[in-house]
Amino acid sequence: MTSSDKHKIADFLDLAGDFLGSGYKSEQKEYQFKDSFPSANDTIEKITEEIKICKNCPLHEKRLNAAPGEGVLQPIVMVIGEGPGEDEDKQGRPFVGKAGQLLDKMLSSIGLSRTTNCFIANIVKCRPPQNREPYPEEIAYCDHFLKRQISVLKPKFILAAGKTAAQALLNNTESIGNMRSVLKELTIGSSVYPLLVTYHPAALLRREEYKRPAWEDLKFLRLKLTESGVI
Ligand code: URA
Repeated sequence: MTSSDKHKIADFLDLAGDFLGSGYKSEQKEYQFKDSFPSANDTIEKITEEIKICKNCPLHEKRLNAAPGEGVLQPIVMVIGEGPGEDEDKQGRPFVGKAGQLLDKMLSSIGLSRTTNCFIANIVKCRPPQNREPYPEEIAYCDHFLKRQISVLKPKFILAAGKTAAQALLNNTESIGNMRSVLKELTIGSSVYPLLVTYHPAALLRREEYKRPAWEDLKFLRLKLTESGVI
């Protein structure tokens, strides 16, 4: 059962309590539920539909479209970025602007693509205004969507693109320089996912000097994929 199902039941029980009691409609209560992972009846379609209509945080107010994520259902690699930009907000799809085109080229250089063996998603699913970094509370509100996506998709590897994604997933405040080129792990429920960190493609477009280390990261990912026999 997901947190959204639990909210519906809690709201129903509140209403039933009001009805069976004095008939007085009590103030709406705010419940916080944590999802148990993985939830047996969760699906990518269900999560996608919930994301599209989510109003859990203020980011929904200015969005044109949420960008839930896209790719194949049993991905070898799940790429996780920061959040939708202007193009993604217009199209409701992740990584479709200039940074996304570069990401597609980077993936393709090691035999990966969102149409054959990857799933692409973001830490937050709605565009932060002026492309600012998402606030910690926005990341926290969106967290259960990402954890559920990972739990349903069960990627063989996770590639965290950029500081925001890496810090949110690894729950730290370290620099990319410290986190990259070492195999990390992300634990969700009883599952452990190998995770690598690299620079965000938008950073590569701004800073030429990140291109070489990013290429090293891709080769390292490819090596790990072949070593573990998944490619
Ligand atoms: N940057 C991101 O982190 N994600 C996108 O989807 C687009 C740009």
